Amino acid sequence: MSNSTKLIHSIPVDPLTGAISVPIYQTSTFVQDAPGEHRGYDYARTNNPTRAALEKIAAELEQGHSGYAFGSGLAAIDAVVKLLQTGDEILAVDDIYGGAFRQFTHIYAKFGISVKYVDTTDASNVEHAISGKTKLVWLETPTNPTLKISDIAAIAKIAHQHGALLCIDNTFASPALQLPLNLGADIVIHSATKYLGGHSDLIAGLVITKTKELGDKIKFIQNACGAILAPHDSWLVIRGLETLYLRVREHCRNAAAVAAFLQTHPAVDQVYYPGLATHKNHDIAACQQTGFGGMVSFTLKQDTEAAAVTVVCGTQLFKLAESLGGVKSLLCHPATMTHKSIPVEQRRVAGVKDSLIRLSVGLEDAEDLVADIAQALGKL
Ligand SMILES: *Cc1c(COP(=O)(O)O)cnc(C)c1O
Repeated sequence: MSNSTKLIHSIPVDPLTGAISVPIYQTSTFVQDAPGEHRGYDYARTNNPTRAALEKIAAELEQGHSGYAFGSGLAAIDAVVKLLQTGDEILAVDDIYGGAFRQFTHIYAKFGISVKYVDTTDASNVEHAISGKTKLVWLETPTNPTLKISDIAAIAKIAHQHGALLCIDNTFASPALQLPLNLGADIVIHSATKYLGGHSDLIAGLVITKTKELGDKIKFIQNACGAILAPHDSWLVIRGLETLYLRVREHCRNAAAVAAFLQTHPAVDQVYYPGLATHKNHDIAACQQTGFGGMVSFTLKQDTEAAAVTVVCGTQLFKLAESLGGVKSLLCHPATMTHKSIPVEQRRVAGVKDSLIRLSVGLEDAEDLVADIAQALGKL
């Protein structure tokens, strides 16, 4: 049976009523028959049936053992970092999501958890940088915003040889295109705000673990720290997941069309899309992903903030907004928006140039999207 069929049918029919949509249990507590005698649920921070349904679906979707739903992607990341203790080190991909950078650097550094950033597209950089202190290797692949690809299987081997866990932020690829746990990762996190929710109408995060042991630790942190996803938002993520494979297939098709167009445009310098044969990491993307995703970034020949602003303010269908993975196409200027919290020197090293523009290619007609970008580039 295909993964998309499995996903649709992993969404349970309500055993009580036969409701085909998972019911929203909007409750804080559950009545007990006698002290400690309940029907599997006692208090809704600890467990809620709607959230539990999402958590089980997510675990199956990533082919892991356990899944846990959090109030945001950053809350999911936070729960994973809380597996560590003072003195431990995180080894992370250099063009990491800005919010993860901010959390690692400005929250966890003061608790004595250090972080080292390396270009993980070359696995030997991980091999060189990893030490006895490294307890967590953190990858995004593809990365945000330059869509670098790292070899999950090779880096899993290096992490495990050194006794570190490997966590993949699978937000950009989504499980429809990439299953990191099958490639050797221990943990997957998602900003479910993006492709999993898929409709730009919620903020949510997920942690999925390969083993029960790791899952139990995340569960303990989730309950102890309390950054849970609310029942209604859990339901919205489930509702989004029903069409995940369908949406991601179209996102990929549209993104490929937009990337091909950008490559031919005289005002465009570099196009970052893992599906292009010219992409530096195309081969490894083709090997570990079943598609190349809906995100495309590009720089302008005129590499200035002003030129980028002209383009991002000149589109009509592509709306200027942070975030990605929704039905409507979005675009943003990472240097002044999503990546503002990363120091400029480090931003440049990671390839976030002043004119870099990031597109989240949505589900409109590809021809309309190409025409929109063409007229915006025409304003330069
Ligand atoms: C958006 C995003 C996050 C953070 O998720 P929130 O739901 O906004 O907290 C983490 N990683 C990546 C790659 C993202 O795009």
